Amino acid sequence: MTALLDDFLSGERGRVMHAVWETIRSRDPETLDPLVAALPRLRHAAAHLDLGGAIYSNNGHLEHAFAKLEQYRAGKCWCAAYPGILTTDPRKEEAADHIRVISTSEPGWSMTYLCECTVCGRQFDIEQGDHHFTWWNWVPRGLKRRRGEV
Ligand SMILES: [Zn+2]
Repeated sequence: MTALLDDFLSGERGRVMHAVWETIRSRDPETLDPLVAALPRLRHAAAHLDLGGAIYSNNGHLEHAFAKLEQYRAGKCWCAAYPGILTTDPRKEEAADHIRVISTSEPGWSMTYLCECTVCGRQFDIEQGDHHFTWWNWVPRGLKRRRGEV
């Protein structure tokens, strides 16, 4: 499977972003292994790309895809990729059987979730908010929180 590799190296914004989202979404070694092997080339090819992005920087998402590949290479659980990006919907992750939602606050635009990774059991506090579109901030339990809550 080299299609994503070609997309990453294409230098074309649309193809690179396609590869970025597929990488962030994927849990398939056949997809990820060739990308891990090519990481230095991918970084080199990406060094001067301006990927744009209306609300959030697409270059930030590209960095997140690279970080996910590094976490995968290091043998970390898939859930290591949840923090640091605001686009992961816990309801979709639950539907994919990646996490279990243990509890939530009163449902609404602004709400919180307590979730557990179905692979390693790690728990996450998730803050949901709305800024042009819905975002989710995943904070693993046992680590210092970012937003000053208890
Ligand atoms: Zn996990």
